[in-house]
Amino acid sequence: MPRFSGKTVIITGSSNGIGRSAALLFAQDGANVTITGRNAERLEETRKLILKSGVSESHLNSVVADVTTSGGQDLLVKSTLDKFGKIHILVNNAGAGIPDATGATGTDQSIDVYHKTLQLNLQAVIEMTKKVKPHLMETKGEIINISSVAGQPRAQPDFMYYAIAKAALDQYTRSTAIDLIQYGIRVNSVSPGLVATGFVNAMGMPDAATQKLCDFMSSHKECIPALVAGQPEDIANIILFLADRKLSSYIIGQSIIADGGSTLVMGMQAHSFLDILKS
Ligand code: NDP
Repeated sequence: MPRFSGKTVIITGSSNGIGRSAALLFAQDGANVTITGRNAERLEETRKLILKSGVSESHLNSVVADVTTSGGQDLLVKSTLDKFGKIHILVNNAGAGIPDATGATGTDQSIDVYHKTLQLNLQAVIEMTKKVKPHLMETKGEIINISSVAGQPRAQPDFMYYAIAKAALDQYTRSTAIDLIQYGIRVNSVSPGLVATGFVNAMGMPDAATQKLCDFMSSHKECIPALVAGQPEDIANIILFLADRKLSSYIIGQSIIADGGSTLVMGMQAHSFLDILKS
């Protein structure tokens, strides 16, 4: 029997990238899946991809919604319950680095960008968690938050509000994990490094920009020691592992870093000491 047979999953931000890949894997592994995003066209691509893989329409609930709005969040929860009856797994994946329209970075980014960035990457997760909590209490379910290596305790001067939001999200993951384990709800998270998705496009960059970034990073061992950019399935597989109680039941409130080794490199050690001394 497929391992998520009879389980219902809501995956925010599943109209693209990591969320789309996770939705496909969950659906192929027997789950009922609510897929969602603001962009109806891209969401339809996710739906078609899943149906093409042999999953029946009856296992899919496709909802166009903005997860930063109360109405969008309520629609996600209600339509899932209407179609599937229960909720077992919530994947808080929707997120983005929101650029400043003026091109400002660092301390020059506007307060408006700060609010929008935290609203999407942190507040929407908190609101979805509150709304889904009673249903997860019933099913003793799982929450998986998608954070980022940007939230690790290292400087992120260009996109500091995004990094602040993800750092706060990591603390939220730890705190909710301890608060909710009393009800049998497990909370964990994944912190990806560079992954080839629509993330760069969503920052207003052209299509070729993701490839350019991935090519640069994956050819510099001080950026990605594994010398390869992550693919959405690399992260989606970890999401499914954390949602599978048989495999990961003793992991509570942790964030699994999947970054090809990026966060282990210290600037000082990015180049060989011996090579420096010999040159
Ligand atoms: P994508 O841009 O490919 O996907 C982001 C998803 O979030 C889309 O489905 C988008 O849907 C959705 N989304 C964004 N804003 C909203 C909103 N207001 N309401 C509803 N949905 C929204 O990027 P990724 O797959 O890379 O991003 C997934 C997660 O991974 C994010 O949390 C991101 O921060 C994190 N991450 C990504 C990394 C990377 O290198 N790619 C690195 C580290 C972390 P739509 O546009 O249709 O609304």
